[in-house]
Amino acid sequence: MHRVAASAATVKLLIDGEFVESGSAQWRDVVNPATQDVLARVPFATAGEVDAAVASAKEAFKRWRRTPIGTRARIFLKYQQLIREHMGELATILTAEQGKTLPDAEGDVFRGLEVVEHAAAIGNLQLGELANNVASGVDTYTLLQPLGVCAGITPFNFPAMIPLWMFPMAIATGNTFVLKPSEQDPMVTMRLVELALEAGLPKGVLNVVHGGEDVVNAICDHPDIKAVSFVGSTRVGTHVYNRASLAGKRVQCMMGAKNHAVILPDANKEQTLNAMAGAAFGAAGQRCMAASTVVLVGEARGWIPGLVTKARTLKVNAGTEPGTDVGPVISCAARERIEALIASGIEQGATLELDGRRPEVPGFERGNFVGPTIFSGVKPGMRIYDEEIFGPVLVILEAETLDDAIALVNANPNGNGTAVFTQSGAAARRFQEEIDVGQVGINLPIPVPLPMFSFTGSRASKLGDLGPYGKQVVTFYTQTKTVTARWFDDETAGHGVNTTINL
Ligand code: NAD
Repeated sequence: MHRVAASAATVKLLIDGEFVESGSAQWRDVVNPATQDVLARVPFATAGEVDAAVASAKEAFKRWRRTPIGTRARIFLKYQQLIREHMGELATILTAEQGKTLPDAEGDVFRGLEVVEHAAAIGNLQLGELANNVASGVDTYTLLQPLGVCAGITPFNFPAMIPLWMFPMAIATGNTFVLKPSEQDPMVTMRLVELALEAGLPKGVLNVVHGGEDVVNAICDHPDIKAVSFVGSTRVGTHVYNRASLAGKRVQCMMGAKNHAVILPDANKEQTLNAMAGAAFGAAGQRCMAASTVVLVGEARGWIPGLVTKARTLKVNAGTEPGTDVGPVISCAARERIEALIASGIEQGATLELDGRRPEVPGFERGNFVGPTIFSGVKPGMRIYDEEIFGPVLVILEAETLDDAIALVNANPNGNGTAVFTQSGAAARRFQEEIDVGQVGINLPIPVPLPMFSFTGSRASKLGDLGPYGKQVVTFYTQTKTVTARWFDDETAGHGVNTTINL
């Protein structure tokens, strides 16, 4: 049962520069995961509302594509300033609806802010190429032109960072955008959208529709949307990739994970255990880059008690409380799913080293808490290994050698992130070369690239060849046109008709 505020606010749609109330008959509650208080109600937009958002973006594109680079850049310079000024407010909204700790919520906003800063400098990356004199008096050059209306579909776990991976880069490169935030925590995303308008985005350049499956399918199918960026689970992302590709769109889908940290016995023990505790249990394990799986190699097998000791020191509490390490998971359903997976681990023969189920959290008895949980003796074939748990559960496997560990990681279907802990440069380099995973950390557990690079992924963690933000997304959000030009002057002008295809 949720406690509904007397007049829970409604989350608005943004269509053609106006924040409007949806006419939908279908709504859901946005719930504080630490208290079950209903913070707001969010609509599932109607087909007509999705069409109106796309139509507005299509109309706005006519002007926006001609807006000078400097004018666009100055909007994002202003936007980054506004985000900085509102950091505390944004983090407070984020923690209330998502549950993560306030410092972690600031980190969520900050990692998005870095993409906004990068968007402000996009002119440096959206440059064409020119080959002078490819034939006598002829030059060939490329234009990187925006596509038109692009759309973004985002997950619940980074409701600030991931929308900011998408619309600033798409808009800075000259496109207009329709965003579909997670229906579980849309409020901080909407505050960021308000600030983007305050920074000067003209009406129609950014639109927002809320909803779930039907709205996502409408985006995939819409003939006026040219490209779709998706971040979320592998199941939904694969569906979005297939459906939107079939409709002729460019699609990039960043999806699920099972990130392995491989620990060699020569690693610095104290630093490695500290890094692992943060990377496995921080944000209650609800990070696509969480290090949720440890592979202990050789003598490092003796480190299990050290990991358990570190995990026991972490404080489980509401994200608003100072000193909290592990906040609640997003929903009651998520908590029940995680608890069921823990039960399956016990049934399937793994050793439960630390049981975090139903921790006592005074003052927040109704919160969706799961404390740090550790299994050893885990093997492929167990559900706790084969499935993405997306909660504060660390599973430990063992391997004889580095090569065995690499083979294990490469045999897992997911390829989002991984890390190796060692003091051997040769071992680290071997790992870097052989591992089939997008983001690789060396003595770093969560190697998320900054925006001068692009986020990536291998195998089941990514569909589409170009990643979000960084240089790759400029290619994703633009169409290359090659122009081959000859300008005649008195000296070079020919007088005959040229019927050959040679230049
Ligand atoms: P999700 O796939 O359930 O939801 C993502 C989006 O898809 C949401 O906007 C949601 O409304 C929509 N959606 C949900 N069900 C749908 C359906 N049946 N049809 C069409 N659309 C649907 O993901 P989530 O639970 O919000 O987020 C967690 C997942 O996201 C994890 O798997 C995590 O690893 C992944 N993730 C990946 C990255 C990355 O960069 N690889 C980053 C963050 C999160």
